[in-house]
Amino acid sequence: MGDVFKKVETADGSYTLYNPLFGESYHSVSAGALRESLEKFLFPSQLVERVKRGDLKEVSILEIGFGLGYNLVVTLHHLLEIAPNLRLRYVSLDREITPLIGELRLPNPYGELYERIKKHLAEGKTSFSIGGAKVEILLGEARETIKTLEGERFDAVYHDAFSPKRNAELWTLEFLGKLKGLLDERGFWVSYSTALPVRRALYELGFRIFSTRPIGRRSPGTAATPKGEPLNDYLLPLTEKERERILRSPKAKPYRDPCLCLPREEILKNYLREVEGC
Ligand code: SAM
Repeated sequence: MGDVFKKVETADGSYTLYNPLFGESYHSVSAGALRESLEKFLFPSQLVERVKRGDLKEVSILEIGFGLGYNLVVTLHHLLEIAPNLRLRYVSLDREITPLIGELRLPNPYGELYERIKKHLAEGKTSFSIGGAKVEILLGEARETIKTLEGERFDAVYHDAFSPKRNAELWTLEFLGKLKGLLDERGFWVSYSTALPVRRALYELGFRIFSTRPIGRRSPGTAATPKGEPLNDYLLPLTEKERERILRSPKAKPYRDPCLCLPREEILKNYLREVEGC
C-alpha cells in the first residue's frame, strides 16, 4: 500500500488510515472500521448487557492502542445512550496521537461526539471529561505506561494493537499477564485477533476463551474472561477444532518477553526459532 499515511475507505463506508510504519491500517478494511469497533470490541465486552442489567454502576475500560479513537467514540455513544448518568473511565495506551486524526470525520450518530473528542486532542489534552465519562490517554511505550496502572481494576480490556506479527511486543505472554492482573474477574478481554500464539497465551494464563461472532464470512475475533458470564450471542464457545489447535498445534506457543523490553523483531525471531521445523 506504499510508504505514506493515507485515508482508506472501509466496507461500512467509514474511513480509516493506513500506517506505513506497520504496513497495516488501523481498522479492518473488509469488515468496516465502525463495525469492527462495535462487533469486535463493544458488544463482545458484555458491557452493554451489564450496564442494562444494572450490574455496573461505574464502568472502567482499558484500551491498548488509542489509534484514531473509534473504539472510544463508539463505546461512549452507546453506553451513555443506555445510561446517561453512567460514570465511565476510559484509559487508553498509545505511543502517539496521529495528527492526521484531524482529517477524519465520522457519520451520525458518532459525528458530533467525535468532533468534541478531537477538539480536546487538538488542544493538546490527553485527559478530559465528556459528561460523566473521564478519558485518559497515557502516551508512551505501552509496556512502560501499563506499569503506572498497577493495583487498578478494569471491567473490560480492548486489545487493539496492530497485528501480532507486526506488533509482537504487545501480544506476549508477559504483557497479556499484566492485562489479566488489571481485569476484574467478571470482566472480558476482547480483540479482533485469533492468532494462535495469542490464544495459547490466554489459555496458559487461565482465561476462559471464546470466539467472537465473525463479521460477514471473515474470521472471528477472541474474547477471554477469568470468571465472567456470556450474556449475548457475540460470544461463541470454541469449536472442538479451535480448542485442539490451541492445545496441540506446534505453532501454539506464546510470544515471550520476560523483561517487557525486547525489540519486537527479537520476540518474533525467538518465536519462529521455537516453532521451527514444525
Ligand atoms: N483502537 C484504535 C481505534 O479505535 O481507532 C485503533 C488502534 S491501532 C490498530 C494500534 C495503535 O497501537 C496505534 O495507534 C499505535 O500507535 C499503537 N501502538 C503500537 N505499538 C505500540 C507500543 N509498543 N506502545 C504504545 N502504543 C503502540
